[in-house]
Amino acid sequence: MLDANLPDLASHQTAESRWLSRVNRTLAALFGLATLLVLTLLLPCASKAMPIWMGFVPAICMLLFITGSITSLLLALHARATGERLLLGLTGVFAFNAAMPIAYLAVFPGGLGPFGLEVGPNTAASEVKSIWFSGHALVMLGAIALGQGCAAQWSRRKTHVALCLAFLLPTLFAIAVASIIDTRPFMMDPQRQWPMALLKIGGLLHVVNAAWLAWRTRLAHPMQLWLVVSLLAWAAETLLFVESHHPFTVGWYGANLLQLAGSVSFLSAVIWQLHLDYRLFEHATRRLAVLASRDGLTELLNRRQFDQEIAREIARTQRKRAPLSLLILDIDYFKAFNDAFGHPAGDRCIQTVARAIERCARRPGDVAARYGGEEFAVILPDTPAAGALHIAEQIRQGVLAAQIPAGKSVANGWVSVSIGVATADDGSDRSVSALLAAADAALYQAKARGRNQAVLEGS
Ligand code: GH3
Ligand code: MG
Ligand code: MG
Repeated sequence: MLDANLPDLASHQTAESRWLSRVNRTLAALFGLATLLVLTLLLPCASKAMPIWMGFVPAICMLLFITGSITSLLLALHARATGERLLLGLTGVFAFNAAMPIAYLAVFPGGLGPFGLEVGPNTAASEVKSIWFSGHALVMLGAIALGQGCAAQWSRRKTHVALCLAFLLPTLFAIAVASIIDTRPFMMDPQRQWPMALLKIGGLLHVVNAAWLAWRTRLAHPMQLWLVVSLLAWAAETLLFVESHHPFTVGWYGANLLQLAGSVSFLSAVIWQLHLDYRLFEHATRRLAVLASRDGLTELLNRRQFDQEIAREIARTQRKRAPLSLLILDIDYFKAFNDAFGHPAGDRCIQTVARAIERCARRPGDVAARYGGEEFAVILPDTPAAGALHIAEQIRQGVLAAQIPAGKSVANGWVSVSIGVATADDGSDRSVSALLAAADAALYQAKARGRNQAVLEGS
């Protein structure tokens, strides 16, 4: 039998999401504080030279490439499933964030070659980095501008094209930046003036983006909260980078690590969101299975589920050579009840009778179902006729004991039920329809003999 006590989807979600959003906010606040602490500690000594570790840039770039590609892939899957425009835009942002580290690696001395792409003393590392940082902030601005709505009205094809472009454009851009800048000496700026200006604009844009995103989305979603946290980390990173003036300084190392921390924290939020979505989906599926098998008014099994259960029980009985009994119940004079008290009262009466049945048929394996309008069926496995008649009598008395006023026209004054009892004895090869017909005939007898009674077939 399905789990009738499965909590309602909405309440389950609210209780869990309230707790999770508290945890999320606390973690996000801690991450924000840690960023602030790193910034306060490193900013005064940002330009202080540190030992040169040539493997640092390749390591950081590869890590940024990996986190950026995984984030963008997961966001693409999410965007494809939901059609949400912000996710579609963010797919492009993180594809950009995955492609640019490779461009940077290509031009950074010691990255992919001793002097970068070109065999020469000049490198375009700062230029590429400034385009990377400001471009990142700019595409993020574009993604937020796309808004929160759904592109569900887009055709599948249009969504796929948008997703392909989100991957393709940043990659082409990164290739173009790396190759054009490095081969055009006039674009190099020994004073680092325009790269510095671009970096500052990028850092400022990160703050603007964080504020705009927070205002637009109200941070309702954990992913939005973590994106804002990451944006602030990237803004802090830009500030450190600008103040570092040279590679391999305190600020430069710190900036790179802050950038990685921002990317990793957002990727973690995306993965966590996937986990939550999966749990919600799993819960919704179980809940739907329960809803599909139950009657909405009484929460007993519905007719479809009853048909499956009785067929399964008959087959099991014949295999195991155990008796199986079936009760069919019908509320007496229910038309008159409805006429006297109205349909809503009739519905409440049906619910009360259902509870009385449940209280009596509570052995594991007993199955109570709403068979029709005000008719019920109870399957009693491993129960011979005498036991079934006993249960039927208990149900009849239970309904009477509920003391539902039946109006003046009914002799004893309370709502009652008539019950037909039929049994497939061990070893009998009675079919489902034969058992049902026998229980129905017994019910007819109970009605004919004056109602408010349980009658065993053939008696
Ligand atoms: P009897 O003693 O012979 O069973 O007489 P009865 O009036 O109960 O006759 P019957 O069993 O044919 O009654 C069926 C009535 O039950 C018809 C309909 O008005 C009422 N009914 C069926 N389903 C519902 C329901 O979901 N809610 C309400 N309020 N009434 C229902
Ligand atoms: Mg009826
Ligand atoms: Mg009836």
